[in-house]
Amino acid sequence: MRRKLVAGNWKMHGSRADNGPLIEAILAAPNLETVDCVVCPPFVYLAELARALRGAAVKLGAQNVGAEAQGAYTGEVSAAMLKDVGCQYVIVGHSERRGLYGEDDVLVARKFAAAQSRGLLPILCVGELLAEREAGRTHELVGRQLEAVVALTGIGSFARAVVAYEPVWAIGTGRTASPQQAQDVHAFIRQRLAERDAKIAADLQILYGGSVKAGNARELFLQADVDGGLIGGASLKAEEFLSIVAAARG
Ligand code: PEP
Repeated sequence: MRRKLVAGNWKMHGSRADNGPLIEAILAAPNLETVDCVVCPPFVYLAELARALRGAAVKLGAQNVGAEAQGAYTGEVSAAMLKDVGCQYVIVGHSERRGLYGEDDVLVARKFAAAQSRGLLPILCVGELLAEREAGRTHELVGRQLEAVVALTGIGSFARAVVAYEPVWAIGTGRTASPQQAQDVHAFIRQRLAERDAKIAADLQILYGGSVKAGNARELFLQADVDGGLIGGASLKAEEFLSIVAAARG
């Protein structure tokens, strides 16, 4: 039985003044340990949040990681640094990184590998554009994004990773994939990986992301292959985020 995982992607939001009350309210909720719960603030707040989360059931994740180990890469943050400040997870290949910053499948795969080399659990985001869905190319695109990582790191690496299916047209738009649309792609991802290793595919947590809210989380999380969510906007409000966590608990 796979555990449910709910991860909050705070994106480029927050401040020290906002983050304190938000994390305090999250930590005050009961039974947090019954799901895997992760918050992913901007880099500059990681160390302070790591202190706030010490000993708590909520884990810390970053939103991005440099592909290189160290050196003259101005502005980059390495996997070792993320580990050093207390991260356990890191999002790689978010569609905003792919779309706005030109990260291609090969770079995303290198970031996935860099994260794992330092013992971080990558949350690998995959997903199609609206035009690609409308052209019936969703499986092709998602399959290509997955294969790029398998090609570099091997199927075994998925035993230490999470996949998030995030249709680009649903992120921050208020337009959510229907539970059936999500389940279809999640089942495809699991099947694609099962062709390589059935056990790894069966154990893999596959999250759905894209306008998940308290009001639609439950139905999405009831789908057989939906193991939780990657939550953007709704993760910035403690009450909303905690309702989503409660929905994951079932
Ligand atoms: C995200 O940032 O990964 C995301 C899914 O955002 P939102 O929930 O706001 O659509």
